[in-house]
Amino acid sequence: MATEETGTKVTSESQPAAGTGVREGPSPSGSTGHDIPEMSPFAAVSFFFDQAAAHIDLAPEMREVLRSSYRELSVQVPIRMDDGRLQVFTGYRVQHNGARGPYKGGIRYHPDADLDEVRALAALMTWKTAVVDIPYGGAKGGVRCDPGAMSLGEKERLTRRFTGMISYVLGVNRDVPAPDMNTDAQTMAWMMDAYSSRYGYTPAIVTGKPVELGGSLGRDAATGRGVVYCLREAANDLGIGLQGATVAIQGFGNVGSWTARIIGELGCKVVAVSDVRGGVRRDEGLDVQAVYDHVRDTRSVVDAPGTESISNEDLLELDVDVLVPAALDRVISGSNVGRVRARVIVEAANHPVTPAADAVLQDRGVTIIPDILANAGGVTVSYFEWVQNIQQFRWDEDHVNEELAKTMSRAWKNVHARATVDGISLRLAAFAIAVEKVERAARLRGYV
Ligand code: NAD
Repeated sequence: MATEETGTKVTSESQPAAGTGVREGPSPSGSTGHDIPEMSPFAAVSFFFDQAAAHIDLAPEMREVLRSSYRELSVQVPIRMDDGRLQVFTGYRVQHNGARGPYKGGIRYHPDADLDEVRALAALMTWKTAVVDIPYGGAKGGVRCDPGAMSLGEKERLTRRFTGMISYVLGVNRDVPAPDMNTDAQTMAWMMDAYSSRYGYTPAIVTGKPVELGGSLGRDAATGRGVVYCLREAANDLGIGLQGATVAIQGFGNVGSWTARIIGELGCKVVAVSDVRGGVRRDEGLDVQAVYDHVRDTRSVVDAPGTESISNEDLLELDVDVLVPAALDRVISGSNVGRVRARVIVEAANHPVTPAADAVLQDRGVTIIPDILANAGGVTVSYFEWVQNIQQFRWDEDHVNEELAKTMSRAWKNVHARATVDGISLRLAAFAIAVEKVERAARLRGYV
């Protein structure tokens, strides 16, 4: 990847200062050399929040309010499995902060889903909706289950039962779920139907629905498209040439596969992608559509024709210009950060970089476009879907994409300007802007 002016590789000179309060550089072993420990997802989000709170000198009483969740619901979800056994799952819905509007956030099905993770993701949603300035608060949901081992019928029963159990904290003007890992438009259709059977036809109760049920055109691609728009803006403002730039993407689900399919529009070539079963690479550039077709036929990128295999760990350490983690959280931590060689990291997944790794990467001058900005395209188009449902009107796809581009561009410019003026990282700038917005709304509403 070359800068537009000089044709040279992007280096730390083009980046804002770290502002992470760290002391030493990385050691060759991959240990961070910093005194920031690895921590749980919620502790990590709180760590970034505390940095922002200190930066903007947030009053202690407001810190206490904005740091913790408004409501945390944990429910028992007993399901009759196909073989007749009763299995009891645990589900969560956490509403972090609703000062700026109804709670908003996805529902995740995953074996590792727990309250700490859902709480962290709910807080990230509060900051994300504030960064892109859409009128929502932050929430998240999850069910601890292994969806890969469940039949469609089992997943439907789980979704309907879970929806029933959390329905009294949901509402079009109260809390509006959406898809996340291992949930999709079909899951949202079941949620909407379960909710509507109790409260009457209510399409606006979830977003990310099938288009036939009031879903928005462009919602499926929105998170990946937002990632690409954000990278385009960042490249323009930071002087990063993307023509021929190499890209590796971890995760080939909703976000990863759409990012891979759209990013070529910027002139980049995708050289590696992966999923839970493994990865594939081709240094000359993958035929992304062929990989996508292979996934449709086999449910994995593994063994896509004309590719070599690569592990998920090695993919993260490839010598590429742009790395897009688009799967799990905490995949770049103190244990591998010393081997991560990408010049730009676009956080399509939520919380893919731990605070310890973040400090090292900031020190090294790696550009990190933070999750609360980079992957906000999904919730932005969810907002457009909700607006269309309330107005009982449909936008065409070009209109959705134009509005998405405007929102992502405005958010990027605000974050970049703040990072430049204050001499801080993009992450700290994004958090500072978000916390200030929520703080103002909370004060005006009399929360404190
Ligand atoms: P998804 O379920 O559609 O896809 C997840 C992908 O990650 C799959 O390809 C899966 O195989 C892969 N994966 C799972 N475990 C893995 C592992 N151990 N190693 C490597 N790959 C693994 O989920 P998604 O909706 O694409 O979400 C991906 C990330 O993006 C999550 O962090 C999610 O919170 C975030 N996100 C999603 C949206 C959205 O609109 N869907 C919006 C914002 C952020």
